[in-house]
Amino acid sequence: MIKMDQITKKFGDLIVLRDINLQVEQGKVIVVIGPSGSGKTTLLRCLNLLEQPESGAVTIDQQTIDFSKKVTKKEVSSFRKQSGMVFQTYNLFPHFTALENVMEGPVTVQKVKKTEAKKNASQLLSDVGLKEKLNVYPYQLSGGQQQRVGIARAMAINPKVMLFDEPTSALDPELVGEVLLVMKDLAEEGRTMVVVTHEMKFAKEVADEVIFMDEGKIVERGAPIDIFENPKEERTKRFLSLIS
Ligand code: ADP
Repeated sequence: MIKMDQITKKFGDLIVLRDINLQVEQGKVIVVIGPSGSGKTTLLRCLNLLEQPESGAVTIDQQTIDFSKKVTKKEVSSFRKQSGMVFQTYNLFPHFTALENVMEGPVTVQKVKKTEAKKNASQLLSDVGLKEKLNVYPYQLSGGQQQRVGIARAMAINPKVMLFDEPTSALDPELVGEVLLVMKDLAEEGRTMVVVTHEMKFAKEVADEVIFMDEGKIVERGAPIDIFENPKEERTKRFLSLIS
């Protein structure tokens, strides 16, 4: 479902991703861990082309973008529709209600009829436990509720893959669980997901595979039990000893 082929990304002289190769099968949940600045967010942003790599290729489902060629705006916008992104800071529109936030993508980007988008958005908000909050504004919601709107919004375009960029790290600790629970539900439904997180318990319970990144490279990858119980690389061991 997802393929990254020799992806290299620079910001000026700084090489942030070095020759990244990654494959994710349909229905799998990949959790990306690693120290701050190791390139985790950039990797996700390259997957939905919020950043464009210097070289390599990315594929989602049937569509491939090869960065050795000129990439058109049309290709970018069509590629981007295949993934739903959930951000650390929710990025909701403050002047839209929860329902309007979730309807926005389908109505403006996909040209879905308003009545249909509304029905779908209501269902999605109900799925994330916010049936009672359809008509409230983001400022009237807790951080955890706002992030659940963020997840419903990302789901609204019916994406083939869901990308989560530290979705709980801006939340008060008591609100983290409700967001992780929604993500766990999505995983159990068989969604293909790439999740950057510091929530190691989530990684252990939900991930099919854990990827440890450092200095723009995938240092080690494997089943959660192998990475957490029996890491092979020194850098992985050091990182895990610092966070546990
Ligand atoms: P992580 O998510 O693992 O913390 P990031 O992908 O955010 O790492 O960042 C990797 C490196 O790229 C860091 O050194 C960061 O400072 C740098 N970086 C990220 N975004 C930009 C940007 N837009 N411009 C310049 N440097 C950036």
